[in-house]
Amino acid sequence: MPSLPLHPPACIVGVIGGGQLGRMLALAARRMGIRTLIWTGGLEAPAVEVADEVIDAAFDDPTALAHFCKTATVATVEFENIPRATLEAVAARTPLHPSPTAISTCQNREREKHFLRQHGIPCTWFAVVGNATELAAAMKDLNGPGVLKTADFGYDGKGQIKLTGTENPEEIWQQFDSDRAVLEAFVPFEKELSVMVARGADGSMVTYDPAENRHRHHILDVSIIPARIPPAVALEASAIARRIAEALDYRGILGVEFFLNADGSLLVNEMAPRPHNSGHHTLDACATSQFEQQLRAVIGLPPGSTRLLSPVVMLNLLGDFWGNETTPPDWLPLFADGEAFLHLYGKRHAIGRRKMGHANFLGADALERAEALKQAWLGE
Ligand code: AMP
Repeated sequence: MPSLPLHPPACIVGVIGGGQLGRMLALAARRMGIRTLIWTGGLEAPAVEVADEVIDAAFDDPTALAHFCKTATVATVEFENIPRATLEAVAARTPLHPSPTAISTCQNREREKHFLRQHGIPCTWFAVVGNATELAAAMKDLNGPGVLKTADFGYDGKGQIKLTGTENPEEIWQQFDSDRAVLEAFVPFEKELSVMVARGADGSMVTYDPAENRHRHHILDVSIIPARIPPAVALEASAIARRIAEALDYRGILGVEFFLNADGSLLVNEMAPRPHNSGHHTLDACATSQFEQQLRAVIGLPPGSTRLLSPVVMLNLLGDFWGNETTPPDWLPLFADGEAFLHLYGKRHAIGRRKMGHANFLGADALERAEALKQAWLGE
């Protein structure tokens, strides 16, 4: 095992996954003089064009695994849906942060919910179901509205059905394309929040100010920072995020998503063992970006300051902002703003609601400016 800290440029950070998070991680690495090796998994990979080296092969390819482990000084992930076997195989040969256990706890809703329950961390009522009979029993116990979610590989509202509680469990289970799921009680939340926490090699932790998140079609639309919440709620959300990072013996950056109830209480919705969409504002509005924070933790450097330099609103730019697959919105009004910053992920085709990029708007009136531009572009 290499000794810590690893000094740039002598180290190569291997990144499992090559999406936009890997791209922004590689860009941060470039600035810091750290080299990156991106392992795409054979998927379309926006990170490729900014990486130092690329392995364009599936995650179960033994040659790719051998090359990755031989080349990377230390490894990390940029998304969590990576086979556990791949994570274990990498970790056996190259230091991998966060650990396979931490990643696999967050990548599966059943494990994630059990972890939260076991550590006394508040989350919504849930039951694990594996067939129509179990779903019927869980719906009876819940006795009200709920959300049925696949245990594995669900994100951005994919693999979810909202239930009123009066449906026929047989029919629901038949149309639900999964053999294991979690039924959650529907939370009539007032707001959705998230906290990014970074934990270093020595267990030291820093948290960013909570983000207030609004969704559109189940996908993050805007993040507002600082969140419009009482200071006590912000403190509590940070404290919970720290408890989770500690309990996972986490190393790296972790996103924790919350529901805020009208009475001020918080419930954890889910965790993301990587940089998170609701942390993209840190690129322009915080002393240290979430991507630099991840690199620091992974190579054993102390965490950087999370200080918020300006109020900020992050607007996600999804595929439906594009006129057609290849015609982007008119960026001129954004650049005319002067305090709005565009980040595009280099994706060629704006299919459906793909995440094509985001824009960070700085300043006290950032939300009004972001909403005005969104309306002009979407006509909504
Ligand atoms: P998830 O993929 O679990 O983050 O869910 C996507 C979005 O669906 C969340 O950000 C919420 O807006 C909504 N959602 C998920 N679970 C629940 C729930 N139990 N109650 C109410 N809304 C939910």
